[in-house]
Amino acid sequence: MKRKGILIVVSGFSGAGKGTLMKKLMETYDNYALSISMTTRQPRQGETDGKEYFFVTEEAFLQKVSQEGLIEYAQYCGNYYGTPRAYVEKQLEAGKDVILEIEIQGALKVKERFPDTLLLFVMPPSAAELEKRLRGRGTETEENISKRLQRAKEEAEGIENYDFIVINDNLESCTEQMHSIICAAHYTPDRNAEFICDIRKELEEGMKRSGM
Ligand code: ADP
Ligand code: 5GP
Repeated sequence: MKRKGILIVVSGFSGAGKGTLMKKLMETYDNYALSISMTTRQPRQGETDGKEYFFVTEEAFLQKVSQEGLIEYAQYCGNYYGTPRAYVEKQLEAGKDVILEIEIQGALKVKERFPDTLLLFVMPPSAAELEKRLRGRGTETEENISKRLQRAKEEAEGIENYDFIVINDNLESCTEQMHSIICAAHYTPDRNAEFICDIRKELEEGMKRSGM
């Protein structure tokens, strides 16, 4: 049976450690393809165009939207973020599990369009630790830290829409937990409908042949 890739959305509050977790997951396992989003936000120090994001102008972003080149897009703290369609379709076709690290509005749009999507939410061990990580990263202004913490409060109201939470306390065990959940998700009946249908047909034919 050819293994089909599944679409996985990973969301979580800013500073919870999504980027760090994704890096670890990609380094540890080779069946994942991480989608690179397009954004109008400015690159942070150390970020490279085409690696963490495709950094574009608002005009270029809206052009991509009008060409239907994005699976979903949303605004977050004053900037646009969106998922380029072509890469996702190609990798799923190739049997990879494709990960979208996106915020909650985008996550819900993806789930609506592709109901098979597995939705994971990364939690920090505590709110205090979240703030510590966000500050400790040293990438945001005080104004941005406040906006992102405010946004976290809003996003917290939507966690029940997700299939699983993972708690990023210890990075290694959280990576393992996430990988285990994804492995298990491959074996739900709805993701194996074709296989189940084939077995049913074979059972039916077998019974007919033996005159039952
Ligand atoms: P996000 O992508 O969710 O905004 P990052 O991956 O940038 O978060 O992580 C925010 C900060 O927290 C970074 O400085 C990162 O090194 C740190 N961090 C991530 N995971 C852990 C962890 N398990 N324990 C301690 N610090 C962590
Ligand atoms: P950051 O600026 O910290 O890199 O990302 C801010 C938020 O935007 C994060 O919650 C991140 O998951 C989300 N994000 C990144 N790419 C996309 C995308 O393509 N679509 C949507 N909807 N959100 C995204």
